[in-house]
Amino acid sequence: MTASAESAYTSVVARIARAAQAAARPAGAVTLVAVSKLQPWEAIAPVLAAGQTVFGENRVQEATERWAERRQGLTLHLIGPLQTNKAADAVALFDVIETLDREKLARALADAVQKLGRTPRLYVQVNTGEEPQKAGVIPEQADAFIAAVRAAYGLEPEGLMCIPPAAEPAGPHFALLAKIAARNGLARLSMGMSDDFETAIGFGATSVRVGSAVFGARA
Ligand SMILES: *Cc1c(COP(=O)(O)O)cnc(C)c1O
Repeated sequence: MTASAESAYTSVVARIARAAQAAARPAGAVTLVAVSKLQPWEAIAPVLAAGQTVFGENRVQEATERWAERRQGLTLHLIGPLQTNKAADAVALFDVIETLDREKLARALADAVQKLGRTPRLYVQVNTGEEPQKAGVIPEQADAFIAAVRAAYGLEPEGLMCIPPAAEPAGPHFALLAKIAARNGLARLSMGMSDDFETAIGFGATSVRVGSAVFGARA
């Protein structure tokens, strides 16, 4: 591993541990999802060699090409929008799908789970900033959507995920996500990226999705 790749990765790992400690949360309370989308293999290999086992990807096809032949021992998270026609491919590859946000997708995932006999862990994505261009269920519809996912499709989400608006302080969005999760009995929160993962840990993130701070800027 090159010195710079090692120091970027180990520094993110150390910052996560410090932020967890500062928030009086136990060591190991926060999982680093290393976001490898659009990264060259030369950037990923040293992080893999350093022991990182949890990776996040935005696109099903890119992730399949990168990981399908070497996914042994790894945990793969889909963190990008999922089209229903890719649901089966996503269920086949990923351990965690973080972007469940509509009933049509819930149905497609339930069908794929049945067909493939493989049940990825699921997160519901919430569009906390109600941005029209962004995926995710809007906050006021989140409770009803989570209830429908459980009742109509027999799926049990384990947490919520959000991507706050780039131009706003992230803290209030993280707080809102935590509140929606708590009132729906969901224990896990996927929130925080390179620029704000320490803030997210302060608001209770159980996993942070960090790309450029680990691997360097994307192509
Ligand atoms: C790309 C991406 C990330 C990682 O972003 P960085 O700013 O590089 O850490 C995290 N979450 C989602 C949903 C992403 O698309």
